[in-house]
Amino acid sequence: MPGREATPITWAIALHGGAGTLSRDIELAEKHAYEVGLSTALALGVSMLERGDDGLDVVEAVVRVLEDDPVFNAGRGAVLTADGVHELDASIMDGRNLACGAVSGLTTVRHPIALARKVMTESSHVFLSGEGAEVFGSTVKVDRVENSFFTTEYQRKAWELAHEDAGEVVHKDAGEEHGTVGVVVRDKNGHLGAGTSTGGTIYKRYGRVGDSPIIGAGTYADDRSVAVSCTGTGERFIEQVMAYQVAARIRFGAQSLADAVSAAMVELPAGAGGLIAVDRYGQIAMPFNTTVMHRAAADSTGRRNIGIWEEIIELS
Ligand code: ASP
Repeated sequence: MPGREATPITWAIALHGGAGTLSRDIELAEKHAYEVGLSTALALGVSMLERGDDGLDVVEAVVRVLEDDPVFNAGRGAVLTADGVHELDASIMDGRNLACGAVSGLTTVRHPIALARKVMTESSHVFLSGEGAEVFGSTVKVDRVENSFFTTEYQRKAWELAHEDAGEVVHKDAGEEHGTVGVVVRDKNGHLGAGTSTGGTIYKRYGRVGDSPIIGAGTYADDRSVAVSCTGTGERFIEQVMAYQVAARIRFGAQSLADAVSAAMVELPAGAGGLIAVDRYGQIAMPFNTTVMHRAAADSTGRRNIGIWEEIIELS
């Protein structure tokens, strides 16, 4: 079997906290905050998977923790649009039956991933946007907050810088920003799940939607192949149908996970971003072509690591 290890992996999880550029000269406190955020989220996922929880519950719970963490660009800590507000996007997919749910342009839903899952389980639709998604949020009773709840000092300053630079340019590229969150898992029953949540790209135009809530572009899961969550300049990932491309390479092209992700990454322009993936054997891949991708991974064989720049940090 391609990529199968000698010791079978019974469960595996990978998560990301966004890809982009980040100087190695950042303050220790900032680096520490990223590391704590990644390892706290990873620890939750590990404890749930070890006790046999369903993969989709793990995806939602871990994404919610990352959404609440202000260092990441999802939920609290999200980037601001050109108009100075937050518009949040998320999606989730269940690999056992290809069920999926997505939301975009949310302004008052505290955990966009939770609403994406409700779209999947409690509506006959797959994707709700803007006002309609908010109204649906009221009927299924998800947590609501003021839009300003999502604003951090860090993102307010980032917006001011983008605003000064904007000039004639209405939309800035993702470039410097990072912090979208995503989780992929293989649970003990062999089910794959994926979820992604984001504030989008900094200074984005009103109504802009990136790859994160688009099934097949930013998120995909199929028990027959792989679960994938992407991060980076969404427009490039939509063009490449990136998450599905990885799945199709494995399922129809019989490529190993490693070969599928490398071949798919070659299709992206340099600096576009990265992805996390876990296949049906529990193999994990976390490639990126930016200077950083905040990421973490664990599996049933004892793997526990996190990374920001290229190097991997083993957790004890
Ligand atoms: N992919 C996200 C988007 O385009 C942004 C990111 O991952 O940083 O909305």
